[in-house]
Amino acid sequence: MAGCGYALQRYFLFGVGVTSTKKRLLFSVSLLLVVGFLITSLVSYFIALNELRDNILEQDLPLSVDNIYYDMRDELQRPIFISSLMASDTFLRDWVMEGENEPERMVRFLENVKSRYNTLSSFFISDKSHIYYDPSGKKALLNQSGREDSWYFRVKNLKEPYEVNIDVDYRNSQLLTIFVNHKVEDFNGQFIGVAGVGLEVNVAKKFIDESSRRFKHEIYFLDLEGDVKLASSNANKNIKNINNFSPMKEIAKDILSGKKGIYEYQYHGHTHYLTARHVADFNWIILVEKSDKDGKESMFNALAINIFICIIIIVVVVSSTNFTIGFYQRELEVMAHEDKLTGVYNRHAFDVLLKDTLQLDERENTVSSLALFDIDYFKKINDQHGHLVGDEILKIVAKKIQASLRQVDVVCRWGGEEFIILLKHTSQEQAIKVAEQVREQIEKCEYKMAKQTVTVTISAGVTSYQPFDTTQSMLSRADKALYDSKHAGRNRVTFLG
Ligand code: GH3
Ligand code: MG
Ligand code: MG
Repeated sequence: MAGCGYALQRYFLFGVGVTSTKKRLLFSVSLLLVVGFLITSLVSYFIALNELRDNILEQDLPLSVDNIYYDMRDELQRPIFISSLMASDTFLRDWVMEGENEPERMVRFLENVKSRYNTLSSFFISDKSHIYYDPSGKKALLNQSGREDSWYFRVKNLKEPYEVNIDVDYRNSQLLTIFVNHKVEDFNGQFIGVAGVGLEVNVAKKFIDESSRRFKHEIYFLDLEGDVKLASSNANKNIKNINNFSPMKEIAKDILSGKKGIYEYQYHGHTHYLTARHVADFNWIILVEKSDKDGKESMFNALAINIFICIIIIVVVVSSTNFTIGFYQRELEVMAHEDKLTGVYNRHAFDVLLKDTLQLDERENTVSSLALFDIDYFKKINDQHGHLVGDEILKIVAKKIQASLRQVDVVCRWGGEEFIILLKHTSQEQAIKVAEQVREQIEKCEYKMAKQTVTVTISAGVTSYQPFDTTQSMLSRADKALYDSKHAGRNRVTFLG
């Protein structure tokens, strides 16, 4: 399309309004998406946090504590059975009843139990002699007042036939050992001693570690005084006795009362949930603990991933909206200033450009001219050759006019078969010359249509800018000049100053 500084003209035609509306729309869409995504992400984050607590308290921990309880019972079934076999062994009871003669026989018996059942230790303490027999053969006397052997007297007074105890094996390995201490009674039911086996703590440690790794929780075995007897490797090493561990002080009493329950405490900025279960068979309390740290972290990661995906979606949506709006904006801009049939400027665009040019003429004391063209007897062409041929001729005429002009000149379809050209910085003489050239070009051309050849002539009215001219005054002079051309016989150019 012919026209001076196309971008500049577009600016005058459409201004900045459209661009700022587009910016406002994009901003609103982005804001809506950001707020919408943020609200949904945060709401689901907080719902998940709430569910995390419920999951830990209602499912994770109760299930785990029960599993450990049953696993532990299974694990101790065998040693309990072995010590019960020892306690009911006829040789052992006869040997005690007969006065503990030939102690090497007892040593052999204990040796046999130890090697056959692959236990860490085996032992018998006679209540009569207070001698501690073990497979090594060295006899030791029970220390009645010391703490080390106090367990013996506890077992002696036990209602149950045996107890399971975790203690340091003071006499042998000095290692933490699980002891199954079984009461031995003579054939009349009289207490005559304690027999039993010691197991490596590792046996229990292995499966609590495995369980704690699998379920990501910490496991503690407590005695009824609150002493941690055994704990999983990931357990808090600061907890030696729950009575002395200040964050747990408030709940320690309830835990140690043996009630099966769910507890929580705060430690290092995290909530720690725990379930406790008293194991009557061993008189221990199993504590399974889980903090919300991992759950919170994974939920926070999920939130971060969510937000990241939202940002990508927002960027894609906003940029594609921007692209689409830009595309249609450009289309609309073209539609708003272009004549659809011929592709030259329409009247609306021309009005703006003419006004602008006249202001420039007035300000800078320059002269621009107007040439208004009207195809002669166009009605006849339509009538003879049909409207479609008429349309084709309009398109060709528009092209011919454009081809005869400079880049800076502006062509517009003024009405049905009328065209107007704005000749910037063009004097009266130059304008008449240009109009004459256009007229000649149109006249000498033969318009070859499908079946026939049509000749077309055109009349023009030319005028130039005069001080105090308005668009209206200039246009009406051009119109009058065109009328004069028609009146004078058509196919000519008339100037009116
Ligand atoms: P004159 O020499 O006096 O200008 O005669 P004329 O027949 O050209 O003048 P008139 O104004 O009577 O007729 C103009 C015709 O142009 C009438 C109308 O049907 C035709 N016309 C207007 N717009 C279009 C168009 O877009 N396509 C076609 N094919 N014809 C159109
Ligand atoms: Mg006309
Ligand atoms: Mg006409």
